[in-house]
Amino acid sequence: MIYHQSIKLPYRYTAGEANTAFLMGLVEHKILAGPCGGCGITVAPLAPFCTKCGSRLGTPIEVGPEGSITTWTTDGQGRNFARIRLDGADTDIFHLVEGDVAVGARVKPIWHDDPQPEITAITRFAVV
Ligand SMILES: [Zn+2]
Repeated sequence: MIYHQSIKLPYRYTAGEANTAFLMGLVEHKILAGPCGGCGITVAPLAPFCTKCGSRLGTPIEVGPEGSITTWTTDGQGRNFARIRLDGADTDIFHLVEGDVAVGARVKPIWHDDPQPEITAITRFAVV
């Protein structure tokens, strides 16, 4: 016998300094990244440490807002999700994408009418 049930799991998320700066930037239609003084890459989205070498990242900089799709997938329900290399960044962000999705396609963010400090401040990216 298999018994299917849902459980409620309340939680609080503490974003931390870097993620808070990233999320607050989205409210102002800015996508923030962090330059790494250790290996020289620019990490987007902004994080406290470099994803390549582990060094603490420097003063946040703005990247994008446009970028190029590096890879993508579908959920089988008509939605496509892509890794996007924003202009000026060396790492990818992951988001919903609409349009003729293809590796290398240029995309731009579609901002929420009333952006809040969460990733849905960008409702999706659109192929340009
Ligand atoms: Zn680094």
